Amino acid sequence: MLMVRDLSVCIEGKVIVDGVSLEAKEGELHVIMGPNGSGKSTLLSALMGLSRVRICGGSIVFNGVDITDKPSYERAKLGIALAHQNPPSIKGVKFSEVVKNLIRKCGCSDSTVMSKILRVDELLSRDLFVGFSGGERKRAELYLVLLQNPKLALLDEPDSGVDVESLDLIASAVRYLIKKSTTVILVTHSGSILNKLSRIDQVHVMIGGKIVYRDLPDKVIPAILKYGFKKGVEVLRDGG
Ligand code: ADP
Ligand code: MG
Repeated sequence: MLMVRDLSVCIEGKVIVDGVSLEAKEGELHVIMGPNGSGKSTLLSALMGLSRVRICGGSIVFNGVDITDKPSYERAKLGIALAHQNPPSIKGVKFSEVVKNLIRKCGCSDSTVMSKILRVDELLSRDLFVGFSGGERKRAELYLVLLQNPKLALLDEPDSGVDVESLDLIASAVRYLIKKSTTVILVTHSGSILNKLSRIDQVHVMIGGKIVYRDLPDKVIPAILKYGFKKGVEVLRDGG
């Protein structure tokens, strides 16, 4: 369903993502881990087609359609949605208005279930993300992604800067997406959400713009959490 081949992404002429390949099937959960500045957010921006990044090599094929050169609104129409690492506050735009528009567009019958999972009701009357705490921001952002009923959800650090309660709600929402056969690519730096997810299909370790290691979670995650990214990968390559 998603086939990324040798993708390179440039920002202001500098190569930030360097020859990344990745394949994900329907309903799979892929985790990308890596240190700060390794290019994780840039990779997700490129998959979403955000204009701040430029694809300077390789290709992205989504459900048989080459979307490498397609703008983000066309990718959204095809069913790709992105939860930003740091969604910007928007004064004068009510969260409830955005929610209403999305519900009208997607016609999703389970919007109430989703809002319960993420406990966003008390936020609806507020301006979008204005004064939201870390956890509220991440929950609200994820709710907007769920409401798009995506086929492919790109989640950029949904677990960073959130308290334990929000983390549980966010993990439930990710499990809900997977149950609906959504393909999820989840970026995490801290890894704090990982033991709350039911089934992870593959973990990719990204360092310096490249995927330097990938394997099943049971192998990769303990090594990374114990040794850190660089040493963890060395240990894994040496056979654990
Ligand atoms: P990560 O999400 O893994 O922390 P990012 O994708 O945000 O990493 O950033 C990767 C690299 O790209 C960093 O070195 C960052 O400074 C650089 N970068 C990101 N955005 C810009 C930009 N707009 N201009 C210049 N460099 C950028
Ligand atoms: Mg990032």
